[in-house]
Amino acid sequence: MHDTSASIEITALPAFSDNYLWLIHRGQYALVVDPGDAEVVEQALQARQLQLDGILLTHHHADHVGGAAALQQHWQCTVYAPESDHPAYQALQATRVKQGDRLTFKHFGALSCDVLALPGHTLDHIAYYLNRQYLFSGDVLFGAGCGRLFEGTPSQMYASLQHIAALPADTLIYPAHEYTAHNIAFAQTIDADNADLQQRARNTAHLRAQNLPTLPTTLALELATNPFLRCEALSQQAAFQHWSAIDVFTELRARRNHF
Ligand code: ZN
Ligand code: FE
Repeated sequence: MHDTSASIEITALPAFSDNYLWLIHRGQYALVVDPGDAEVVEQALQARQLQLDGILLTHHHADHVGGAAALQQHWQCTVYAPESDHPAYQALQATRVKQGDRLTFKHFGALSCDVLALPGHTLDHIAYYLNRQYLFSGDVLFGAGCGRLFEGTPSQMYASLQHIAALPADTLIYPAHEYTAHNIAFAQTIDADNADLQQRARNTAHLRAQNLPTLPTTLALELATNPFLRCEALSQQAAFQHWSAIDVFTELRARRNHF
């Protein structure tokens, strides 16, 4: 496989009960995605002798932005944030970014970072698509699941997931929460005959038994097992006969809220 980012490493920093703060590092420099907790990031930087070069924020929820101000203060680094006037960003001297923007970083060579608008969980939600290989999907796409609709409509979220689904199948996806096992249990209530899902349930149980992350995931695996990306296929099932894909999506999201 052609890889222009051979020296990039991506590390999961667990925080709170089920968040991952993703640390992207190359040489002595690091970027962090959604640093909800500054102390977790500081400890990781110190342990690896890294300097923080940039902060990437996907949306305004506290478990994603909570540590950004302290880290920015300490490292004097650039904070990238969605274009929205939400108060969570007001204390930050943030560089606002939007769909179509391409970011580059001083200490990361030719590494590119495309911004994708993915509204639904919040209206301002964006994702960072690094080197056209790695997608930091925040709270939009999870392992075998998707984020709750706090601000957007089902059609907005469905369109955002379709946007992700159109990326190359070997895209590595880095969601912000470890929800995979619970999402798989839900998926099995509607897609019980899916052999890929059964296999994923076994692999996930094995990883979680050792307290290991189930992430990153790949788009190919999500397309095969994530019910929120399989609405078209599920609409062919007897249970959803004559339903449109978006109606299936809306129903699944509502059921998942109470699962
Ligand atoms: Zn959130
Ligand atoms: Fe979150």
